[in-house]
Amino acid sequence: MTAKHFSGAIARLRYPRAMSALLLATLAVLIDLIARSSAYRDLFLLLPVGGIVKFSAGLVLVFLQVVALFYLIILLPRIFRMAAILFSFFIIVVQCSYWLTLDQFMTGTDLLLALTVSGENRADAISSFFQPRVFLYSFPYILVLSALVLVRPVAAFRKNLSLSLLPVVFLLFSNYALFLHAPERSLHLNPLISFLRVTIHYQLENLSAYHGPLDELPPFYASHRPSDSIIYVIDESVRGSNLSLNGYPRATTPFLQYLETRGRLKNLGICVAAGSFTHISNAYLISGHNSFPDNDFRTDRNPTIFDYAKKMGYETLYIDINQAYLPQLLKAAGNGPVRSVDRWMNEQSFEKRQINLETTKDLGIAHFLSSLLNERGGYFIVVNKKGLHFNYHYRYPDDPASTVWRPVMEASEAIDTSLVGREKLVNTYDNGIRFQVDEFFRVFVSETTNQNYILLYTSDHGQTLSENGQVYTHMKPDRVIVDVPDFFVSGERYDRKGLLALIQPRIKVSHLNNFATLLDLMAAPTSLRVRPYEKSVFSLTEANRVLSYMSGSLHGTGDYVVKMIPTSPDANWTVSKTSVNGLKPQ
Ligand SMILES: [Zn+2]
Repeated sequence: MTAKHFSGAIARLRYPRAMSALLLATLAVLIDLIARSSAYRDLFLLLPVGGIVKFSAGLVLVFLQVVALFYLIILLPRIFRMAAILFSFFIIVVQCSYWLTLDQFMTGTDLLLALTVSGENRADAISSFFQPRVFLYSFPYILVLSALVLVRPVAAFRKNLSLSLLPVVFLLFSNYALFLHAPERSLHLNPLISFLRVTIHYQLENLSAYHGPLDELPPFYASHRPSDSIIYVIDESVRGSNLSLNGYPRATTPFLQYLETRGRLKNLGICVAAGSFTHISNAYLISGHNSFPDNDFRTDRNPTIFDYAKKMGYETLYIDINQAYLPQLLKAAGNGPVRSVDRWMNEQSFEKRQINLETTKDLGIAHFLSSLLNERGGYFIVVNKKGLHFNYHYRYPDDPASTVWRPVMEASEAIDTSLVGREKLVNTYDNGIRFQVDEFFRVFVSETTNQNYILLYTSDHGQTLSENGQVYTHMKPDRVIVDVPDFFVSGERYDRKGLLALIQPRIKVSHLNNFATLLDLMAAPTSLRVRPYEKSVFSLTEANRVLSYMSGSLHGTGDYVVKMIPTSPDANWTVSKTSVNGLKPQ
């Protein structure tokens, strides 16, 4: 049947627009059922009898929503209809990419991240999971959508408006009912409808979020500016078990090991990250909140670590190169300066100082930290480092000296799960660790002459490195994703060195322990501590293990999962292999 025949047949129908929407919606629902049959089968097998009835009702609801959406698209004047269809093509390709990579369509959290992370991280995420076969999956949908162009439009504007009222109200109310009563993970059945649902869910989530001020700390007046400096480095995507400091067979961190032998580094071993992606981990690290998910918006309300540092007399700096946590703090600040942050620096601030982070990578930050400390003491600095966000090849210089392990992935290459592909992935990642982690410390330690400082280092989350064929790097609740380093590096004349001697052997640490650790380092009195924070590493004992983490919707309003690392970690944790065949040290 040609396009002309099709549009002629439609025109002869009694309700041509409604009938076309019905017919094309049926096709769209069937395409999803066929293209993703495994997902439907899995869902069906999991459901109890009552669940099957609910699921069928949900399927009917989704079908009606597709009808309503297609009907609305048909009502649009030609030019807008074309625009809507092109936008739908784009959404379908994005949704199919998510599904091929993560086995699910976009969630509200994915949308939040897509809208808030920096453009570069977004581009890197796309390059990590873009697969050409996405077009194969999208093609049938695109064919169905194209047919929407052929239906004759309604001439009168007013008639159009009245006809669109009912479907708009239906789409809004049905999605509101789903927001209230159905978990986000259910009913991701059609790429377009699923996207619409997620968008409405995201807006409703925003409306119900906490918009008030941060809690205040009790009055306390520091008598003087402290002479020591505290630096809290939160790296990006650094997996703890890929550091030779933690027993990895390749010498990825020789300088850190040297520091350890000199008594300048105190290693806390593999730490459990709070979350599987930047946003969650930072929210917990900066606010000291300690339960999952954050139902009470404590990560938005708790005084931040900057508030404590400021109270204790430190001059506070936030060096934010990753720009992933930025929206959260800015939101809390309204239009004013962020509370208790004396100086906020991002990539542009470094450019102004003629430090080009494109060429020097994180080493530019190391130089800057040293110069700052060498001027005077009394700084409290939080650094959200650039670290090793995929694509790893961008994170170290493309020269023979920095390419210790070969072959490597090209800068724009997507993750390939074959044996050869994985070897390249791990080689590139390990080169990145050697440069962005080990070289960072080499520069910082060797250039810092003021020896009265302590640096606490961790990473927001780890990476999968595709050991189980994953094409995603993080974002899912895999255990390897919450495997991060945690250690101190201190200056030779650090004031509170005695604290480090209190650390018990064999403790198991989590991100949640870092907040009180910093409070102890600042000597914040108990009377100042307004929340029941987890223990600091200085009072942690072997028996104390708080090793939970979460993935998904931070406030538990959408899809989320809370998991725990067992007290005796299994083989998939704290071990990283250089290749699938086994260990290949070099
Ligand atoms: Zn991250």
